[in-house]
Amino acid sequence: MMAVYAQPAPASSFKVIPLGVKGGSDESNLSSYMVGAAGSNNYVCLDAGTLHYGIQKAINAGIFRGAVNTVLKNNIKGYLISHPHLDHVAGLIINSPDDTAKNIYALPFCTEVLKEKYFSWKSWANFADDGEKPLLNKYHYATLTPGEEQPLEHTGMSVTAFQLSHSNPYKSTAFLVRNNNAYLLYLGDTGADTTEHAANLRMLWQSIAPLIKEKKLKALFIEVSFSNAQPDKLLFGHLTPRLLMQELDVLGHLTGLALLHNFPVVITHEKPGGMRENTIKKQLLASNGLGLRLIFPKQGRLLSF
Ligand SMILES: [Zn+2]
Ligand SMILES: [Zn+2]
Repeated sequence: MMAVYAQPAPASSFKVIPLGVKGGSDESNLSSYMVGAAGSNNYVCLDAGTLHYGIQKAINAGIFRGAVNTVLKNNIKGYLISHPHLDHVAGLIINSPDDTAKNIYALPFCTEVLKEKYFSWKSWANFADDGEKPLLNKYHYATLTPGEEQPLEHTGMSVTAFQLSHSNPYKSTAFLVRNNNAYLLYLGDTGADTTEHAANLRMLWQSIAPLIKEKKLKALFIEVSFSNAQPDKLLFGHLTPRLLMQELDVLGHLTGLALLHNFPVVITHEKPGGMRENTIKKQLLASNGLGLRLIFPKQGRLLSF
């Protein structure tokens, strides 16, 4: 499906550059999305599974000029980490020696793991400003509080975090990014409320439904890791096409189904394996009774919303 990035978009509010789009296996293409206000060159990364290779792809596509490290240092102003699984933080850790000082925005459950398991001298150097000493003080843990908006420094944007369930009791995060009156919602890995025996998604949908009604929410990024063939007991806190549509149906009943017609939904975190990615796409397109504008992002290809 040709998506919005095909058009110049003077009225757009956000630019998104996917640095990595997959949910496993290919370490050169793991979840990470640069998001910035339209007209700005200052971005944050939504997750940081792959940085270097994705920036190189964006340079090759003409989105940035210069060297990878220049973009890493100058254009990325902070990281929003949904949860501390390696496929969401590997790029941040590996590139930390070349990076400049910036904030890591995350909920406390996530900063604790970064502090104790990664930016500790046992597994890497401690580039952060907290945890095992000596502290290299490059990254500052900007700890978020669920439901409370906080500015994203040097970007003109702000963020509100919501807690998700990712193989209960393990957690993940949704980030609602705001640029003036426009919003973009990115979900880290998440299971469905039914399979997680939780209500996190219902609560999130209730919080953001008014933004859809007011036409302020420009796009939703959400995962579909597996095809419908995946048994529930082997979902490990992820969604399938069937479960995604079930969840968006819940959202649609809060907003009115008509408002989801043509609403941009970016499908993230497909796990490679055999024909799975093709199957996921087919199953989503075949079950899109809501008429969502389904977008399958490509590494290094600009999206505008
Ligand atoms: Zn993941
Ligand atoms: Zn995960």
